[in-house]
Amino acid sequence: MEARDLTRAYVVSRGRSVHALRGVSLDLAHGETLAIVGESGCGKSTLARILVGLEKPNSGTIRFPNHGNEKVIVPMVFQDSLGSLHPRRKVAQLIVEPLLIRQKRFRMTAELREKAKELARSVGIAEEHLERYAHELSGGQRQRVNIARALSLDPEILLLDEPLSALDVSIQAQILNLLIDLQERRRISIVFISHDLSIVRHFAHRTAVLYMGAVVEYGETSKILTDPLHPYTKILLSSDPSVPKSERLRFEGEPPSPFEIQQGCSFAPRCPIAETACQSEIPHLEALNQRAVACLPAVRSLKTSHGNAPSLS
Ligand code: ADP
Ligand code: MG
Repeated sequence: MEARDLTRAYVVSRGRSVHALRGVSLDLAHGETLAIVGESGCGKSTLARILVGLEKPNSGTIRFPNHGNEKVIVPMVFQDSLGSLHPRRKVAQLIVEPLLIRQKRFRMTAELREKAKELARSVGIAEEHLERYAHELSGGQRQRVNIARALSLDPEILLLDEPLSALDVSIQAQILNLLIDLQERRRISIVFISHDLSIVRHFAHRTAVLYMGAVVEYGETSKILTDPLHPYTKILLSSDPSVPKSERLRFEGEPPSPFEIQQGCSFAPRCPIAETACQSEIPHLEALNQRAVACLPAVRSLKTSHGNAPSLS
């Protein structure tokens, strides 16, 4: 999948608009997992809805270069595992609901029941649970059902928007292992949206860090999460609960208004290394050894000092 320059603004009141996406470009390769991370309100779900086709961007394109004119289905798994499932349908029917809709059917057939059984097995749902309702399952089991129904259409891409945020830590690990396993078996590509860097660390091949509707850093997860270049990524990483309080970097100042397109870098008002140029010049993603970063001081210092990123301290 190739997304180029996606923008999306929502008109809220008296003609004011929230600029939720300000020009996002991403690539998703066959069989890879791409994580999209960033704090609440940075545009992750807006991007998700646009990537799966639930919403249209104001500008920008999404292409599937290897698919010609063939329609590519990208199913989505939501954070709210209960709200995603019809309260009065049993698990078997929930799992194959996308197929029922596609076939314009209202009733289960023996064939669909068999398909539901097989999908349930592949996500670790016991056969006896097929006759239950969503509210009779645990959160983790419900998320397995949501994954199974997403897989029912045999997609090549799966998009998950904070699928683990409502689950206990031990259950999170089980679902992550399921996704890793499914990806190996089915060779699907995964877009995984999360605000939790510790989750994507061992899971995503590449990571895109979103800040105020723009990608500020993008590349191999191992690079980005061990040696971040953008000051926003550094602060995000240091806010992980595993980092001792005394060592955490803090945001200074207020984020700029989401209603305006700023001049310059939208992180500048909160940035410890901002320079005069950052107030007026919009930083574009610049490719540097296995990643891209949108930060004028970081790029310059990397180019001049052969790899020493600017220090925040
Ligand atoms: P995230 O998923 O990262 O928390 P969202 O994509 O939900 O972020 O939201 C990004 C910004 O767009 C926020 O400021 C949010 O309030 C705004 N927004 C999202 N959807 C709508 C909508 N339908 N109408 C108005 N504003 C919206
Ligand atoms: Mg969201």
